Amino acid sequence: MIDAAVEQLLRQDPKSYVIPAEVVANVTATNTLEHALMVLSKVGYTRIPVLAPDDHLQGLLALSDVTDNLLRVPGAAVENLNQILVSDVMRPVTHWVDDPTKLEKILNLLVDEPFLPLVDDQMIFQGIITRREILKRVNYLAHNLNRQYTVTPKMIDTPAN
Ligand code: AMP
Repeated sequence: MIDAAVEQLLRQDPKSYVIPAEVVANVTATNTLEHALMVLSKVGYTRIPVLAPDDHLQGLLALSDVTDNLLRVPGAAVENLNQILVSDVMRPVTHWVDDPTKLEKILNLLVDEPFLPLVDDQMIFQGIITRREILKRVNYLAHNLNRQYTVTPKMIDTPAN
């Protein structure tokens, strides 16, 4: 369980830690890997969501999924990636959230995931929650906890002689 005071401060403004879908770089399952490589190198991220034309979240694409295919054939040119679709190599989405205020789940999952997709109850993509945005909230918490709460230690350590 997250401490109530910590939770209240962290989720004071859940919008502040959700990057909205409109500004999240993505590809569609029917894109070629050549196109996906262009998108990934332009945005500089190593993993981005794969969306259906109706914005359903379908999977995740990592840069390594593309480069593995490029390196599989010695001397292969980037044009060869035209023969392979994102749907051929994308990974399933194993972790996501449907409520940005579920902080306990978000914090636990972000230990191992660099970002979490946020979806609605129909799996329509709403945005992402990244480690960086959550760390900004933790930073806010660290600087504001004692402005809003009185924090008193339960036990006072006595220095060892
Ligand atoms: P960060 O915590 O900012 O380093 O972001 C963690 C990961 O989230 C990045 O490595 C990307 O995979 C993903 N990410 C962050 N921002 C975006 C964005 N605007 N579009 C697509 N993916 C993003």
